[in-house]
Amino acid sequence: MRTKILQQLLDALKKTLPEGSVYSDSDFLAPYSADEAPDLSASPDIVVKARDTQAVSDTLRLCSQFKVPVTTRGTGTGVTGGSVAIRGGVVLTCEGMNRILEIDRENMTCTVEPGVITGNLQRAVLEHGLMYPPDPSSLESCSIGGNVAVGAGGPRAVKYGTTRSYVLGLEFVLPDGTVMNSGGKFIKDATGYSLTGILIGSEGTLAVITKIILKLLPAPRHTLDLLVPFDSIREALDTVQGIIAGGVIPAALEFMEEDALILVGKLQGVDLPFPGAKAHLLIQLDGNSEDDIARDIQLLMAHIPSDPDRIIVAESPQQQERIWKARRSIREAITRESPVFLAEDTVVPRASIPEFLVELKQGFAERGLRSVIFGHAGDGNVHVDVLRDAMNEDAWKKICIEIKNLIYHTAVSYGGTISGEHGIGYLKKDYLPITADPAKIELYRRIKHAFDPENILNPDKIFNTPHT
Ligand SMILES: Cc1cc2nc3c(=O)[nH]c(=O)nc-3n(C[C@H](O)[C@H](O)[C@H](O)COP(=O)(O)OP(=O)(O)OC[C@H]3O[C@@H](n4cnc5c(N)ncnc54)[C@H](O)[C@@H]3O)c2cc1C
Repeated sequence: MRTKILQQLLDALKKTLPEGSVYSDSDFLAPYSADEAPDLSASPDIVVKARDTQAVSDTLRLCSQFKVPVTTRGTGTGVTGGSVAIRGGVVLTCEGMNRILEIDRENMTCTVEPGVITGNLQRAVLEHGLMYPPDPSSLESCSIGGNVAVGAGGPRAVKYGTTRSYVLGLEFVLPDGTVMNSGGKFIKDATGYSLTGILIGSEGTLAVITKIILKLLPAPRHTLDLLVPFDSIREALDTVQGIIAGGVIPAALEFMEEDALILVGKLQGVDLPFPGAKAHLLIQLDGNSEDDIARDIQLLMAHIPSDPDRIIVAESPQQQERIWKARRSIREAITRESPVFLAEDTVVPRASIPEFLVELKQGFAERGLRSVIFGHAGDGNVHVDVLRDAMNEDAWKKICIEIKNLIYHTAVSYGGTISGEHGIGYLKKDYLPITADPAKIELYRRIKHAFDPENILNPDKIFNTPHT
């Protein structure tokens, strides 16, 4: 049963927004009830499909007037429940705002709407000889708006940084419907507080992002991938350190333990390239000439203990895509094996990764838990996934709390933090105090209040906000 206020809001939205933008049928709401966080869903009461900034502004103004919560959504690939409408109300989806408005070769920028799919943007700028480096493994399905809102990263962060390093300016809408701009097509900006900086990673709690100006780079002319097997996890992780200390910063330096590739092999129905190898590194090198790459390979090989004859070198786009498809399928492969699992993305200083992961693996083994570790070893952000397998729900819920505490406290004890790229969302908010003291969380609350005094934007995400 819809409350009177929700019915009034629904009527007002339908009257104000273009036809075909406002939905309240349960069949339509269902796909907007969850993101990729396993085991979490909540149905919104209304879904608004915005097609332009005006629609976003009108929606927010009306929701403010009726004090109904609004959860902004990109394409729902987030893994922390960030776009799930925990308190019901409106889901405002930006997936229809998906135009690339401009690619400016002279200034090496592009201006896009938030619903553009990241992979589509990369291909579009590449046609102009340009590169947009951030490459979350979900790049064929996630949106740029979602990437900015969580500060997404990806394999290339080791050399090129995360989404945060590429956002030059934003258009955004405050909860009362006011449209604002920050930054622009320039690199430097020393003009007051950086609103762009505050909004990156704000996870839909402060404003709705409606336009994004991104920095682009010249695309490197050559790339080459190496898949290297190792006899132990430790050997692979120590090699990461050796490579970087040896003076090569690869475009990507990804770690995959044996189980990650076994599960991908099962998913794709293919044989493992190196049966018995306990771990693998996927290394991407890029440069403007074959000589650049040859030089890097020479430096790199001095730090790789594996037999050179057992290294797969992928130079053609087809070979490269085959390897990267396997890397990007790990999450899907784990889901197939155990639909419920804990997916953690803690980050620690790169040099601490070997000790950190060996300590965690031991902790999981002592509890009889199966885990898979893989990811961005080059930047300290290795994913730690723990599988529920056949454990009953009560036991799983209990052990999850214990395991999350173990992972987060261990990461913090190594000088790291509880999320490197996925954000806090709903699933990690109770654990934020492990890494943020009460004074910091109070400052977050005051920033939230300054942007969203009625607390209607994605309430109860990142940290607890008072009920309105
Ligand atoms: C298989 C798989 C692999 C993944 N790999 C990576 C990876 O390598 N790196 C990584 O960082 N993440 C990864 N992710 C997580 C996810 O894809 C990213 O967090 C992505 O940035 C989410 O984008 P989205 O469009 O799906 O956003 P959503 O999930 O829809 O939303 C995410 C958050 O952003 C907010 N939001 C969305 N759009 C806006 C907007 N316009 N204005 C304000 N707030 C907004 C939402 O309210 C929510 O809090 C992966 C996920 C999957 C399923």
